[in-house]
Amino acid sequence: MSDATVSENTVVTVHYTGTFPDDGEVFDTSRDKEPMTFLIGHKNMIPGFEAGVMGASVGDEVEFTLEPSDAYGDVEEGRVVSTPREQFPAEMPLELGLQLVADIGGHPQPFTIVGFSDIEVKCDFNHPMAGKTLHFQVDIVDLREATEDELAHGHAHGPDGHHHHD
Ligand code: ZN
Repeated sequence: MSDATVSENTVVTVHYTGTFPDDGEVFDTSRDKEPMTFLIGHKNMIPGFEAGVMGASVGDEVEFTLEPSDAYGDVEEGRVVSTPREQFPAEMPLELGLQLVADIGGHPQPFTIVGFSDIEVKCDFNHPMAGKTLHFQVDIVDLREATEDELAHGHAHGPDGHHHHD
């Protein structure tokens, strides 16, 4: 399917490099590891990344810059909450920037400590990449139709795909 293009319900394999456009710093890349395979149209990726590769063919190189709203969202002040210090183990050393995971109603919620005293701890539940504009350079390595199983599960399978979880 050499004339196929990336579209809903295709499984695409890409090499990518993500940089911050202001200083060019690389925040993530697949170049030093296996390419990434994912199913298009099932919210496996940030929305702007899927939109950016849509319509591309194997061998194409695409580049795009995403505003926070198309990537990890804006920083929301309401997602920074103060928690009593006593909710953390007394022996746990706290430090600014420490990333932890809270269990809220059985759902793991990662957060970052952005302030603390003897009385309370300020926890930032914003995604670490929230509020950031991101640039991606992407090479389309492979492309195929999704299988029925993949469509039912909502993710890619197989040796190139995500680890299966059942
Ligand atoms: Zn599955």
